[in-house]
Amino acid sequence: MTYIIAIDGPSGSGKSTVSKILADKLNIEYLNTGLMYRAVTKLFLDMGLDEGTDEAILKDLLNKITIEFRENKLFLNGIDVTKDLRNDEVTANVSWVSARDYVRAKMVDLQRKIAENTSFILDGRDIGSVVFPNAKYKFYLTASALTRAKRRYDQGESELSIEEIEKAIIKRDDYDSNRKVSPLKVAKGAIVIDSSNLNIDQTVSKILSYMEKKDVL
Ligand code: C5P
Repeated sequence: MTYIIAIDGPSGSGKSTVSKILADKLNIEYLNTGLMYRAVTKLFLDMGLDEGTDEAILKDLLNKITIEFRENKLFLNGIDVTKDLRNDEVTANVSWVSARDYVRAKMVDLQRKIAENTSFILDGRDIGSVVFPNAKYKFYLTASALTRAKRRYDQGESELSIEEIEKAIIKRDDYDSNRKVSPLKVAKGAIVIDSSNLNIDQTVSKILSYMEKKDVL
């Protein structure tokens, strides 16, 4: 029997680190859905497009896009762009891209196809609420904005200061939580874990103990 673990939450809450460790421990597959929205954003930016670009142009580009994962790398239209997805420019633009319903429809469809018939852990914003509402396990990871900003800073992928990252995080949280389509929210049945005072191992243990309680491991 295959099963799905949905891990949702705001940026920097530790979703991807925790999900990778869990996938290894449980010997299941892992999909970082944020990378997919980042890939679409990169494509739009590379083409010189922005929030004000005509929808028809964005839709046309989206129709031709291919996103594939091979060996933990993301290939956008056949090219490995993994290293270019977490920079400040993509991060600053991903929210307006991911708020478009046609972008989400295509990504959600792809996510369901990728995770079909295989046990998967997916992290994102709407996994437990929209992509896999019947997921066997649902978690919502969160932490204070400052804790999350420090974590992002320590990853070394941003040129910004901790204070600037914190501001950007609060702005993105706000945008992601208030958009009309699939806003970031705690999915029905999800267990909320605040990791502000937990390290990665403690967070992973907490999730595993909830899963054990469900008596299926
Ligand atoms: O997880 P990460 O911070 O890399 O996600 C980048 C952005 O992609 C989020 O701020 C959000 O706008 C969008 N996203 C989303 N739905 C998901 C995953 C990410 O809207 N399932």
